[in-house]
Amino acid sequence: MFGISLFTMIARSVRNQSTGRLLYRDLLLSLLLVPVLACGSAPPPEESSQPILILVSIDGFRWDFRDRGTTPNLDRLVAKGVSARKLIPVFPSKTFPNHYTVVTGLYPENHGLVANNIYDPAFDAIYGLSKRDEVGNGRWYGGEPIWVAAEAAGKPTAPIFWPGSEAEIDGYRPTFWEPFDGSVDDHRRVDKVLALLDLPPTQRPVFLTLYFDTIDHAAHDLGPGPSQNLQRAVEHVDAMIGRLLDGLENRGLAGRVDVIVISDHGMAENSRERVILIDEILDLDIANPVDWDPVLGLWPEAGMIDEVLERLQGAHPHLKVFRREDIPVELHYNHHPRIPPIIAIADDGWAISSSERFMACSDCFTGGSHGYDPRLESMGGLFIAAGPSFQHGITLPSLENVHLYHLMCAVLGLQPAPNDGDVEIVPKLLRPRSDSLTASH
Ligand SMILES: [Zn+2]
Repeated sequence: MFGISLFTMIARSVRNQSTGRLLYRDLLLSLLLVPVLACGSAPPPEESSQPILILVSIDGFRWDFRDRGTTPNLDRLVAKGVSARKLIPVFPSKTFPNHYTVVTGLYPENHGLVANNIYDPAFDAIYGLSKRDEVGNGRWYGGEPIWVAAEAAGKPTAPIFWPGSEAEIDGYRPTFWEPFDGSVDDHRRVDKVLALLDLPPTQRPVFLTLYFDTIDHAAHDLGPGPSQNLQRAVEHVDAMIGRLLDGLENRGLAGRVDVIVISDHGMAENSRERVILIDEILDLDIANPVDWDPVLGLWPEAGMIDEVLERLQGAHPHLKVFRREDIPVELHYNHHPRIPPIIAIADDGWAISSSERFMACSDCFTGGSHGYDPRLESMGGLFIAAGPSFQHGITLPSLENVHLYHLMCAVLGLQPAPNDGDVEIVPKLLRPRSDSLTASH
């Protein structure tokens, strides 16, 4: 079974090599090794001191969800590593902008993934999660994701199911990547990462990602308040973290591999009593909404910006409306041509919709949502990290996710590309390099 899964992965990696980075010589070597490893008679793989980092994202896991259920495995990581009471996302506190900030260290206004749904005036094209061609098109992804630096240095990476991983960026693709497939269950997601670590040292990825969306779905459906389903989801994801940690231990890798567990944002409680029906305020035909809720992005018809702004400003007590250039600087959301000329941001727990959608969907706006001002308590996420590179027993009151890129570059010994993070995070959370090398043996 081990041999079969290894073979499948190697075959997949070869299929995915549009840039031809996996050498034919390596492929032959891999295929020769498969039957040997399957028989269990191969010598143990040569150990190397190359650090390995697994970045785990639990989508939508709010900072306080550890209290929603029993989480012995997350607790085990907290006890032996570093953590923050909450991880502060970037604006908008949406999935794609935040995941891409974590791997580039850039605010969305600098990496260009400014929302989950984006209009680019130069391309005259729309980016959205369901537009698979655009998701796989490198033209949308600015900055340098951490896997690019690793691949350029000849170190294989596996950012599986991570935003940006499906595209060629700066001439590089990750050695291992897959188109996002929500039907792959969480056990298989964990086992895939573990199988990649079973590859021989020269082919083994140094940077891997693991993505869970169970919590996000549960919290969107039911809201972030205590519920049996959310408790079940929290305990399920904790068990998956346990499966990963046990898998590392069984392979003798527990002392070798660093693990960072984060979430991309928190979750606020919605209500049908807190919905702003925007078509009651504004003629949407002249405003052209590209993204809706809870951050409305408008691309008004030519010459209509002032009129749209006039209609919206002050029209609802729970809606803040800005021209792109007037968005508060603390949100770091002014300087990219993909940021819509007008932005309206709903207050915590409020939703933005149209009368038609509100009437048509009686189940909508009864659960949770995110995208709001990242400084709100409700938008805070999760940060825990442990392994040979990390200090022990440190808990920060909060940490901005824009700084994680520096941390990960330091763990992997990569030169960071220009970014918006603060390198001071490194000595705060990492052990001096000589300590961590000692600890790995
Ligand atoms: Zn998300």
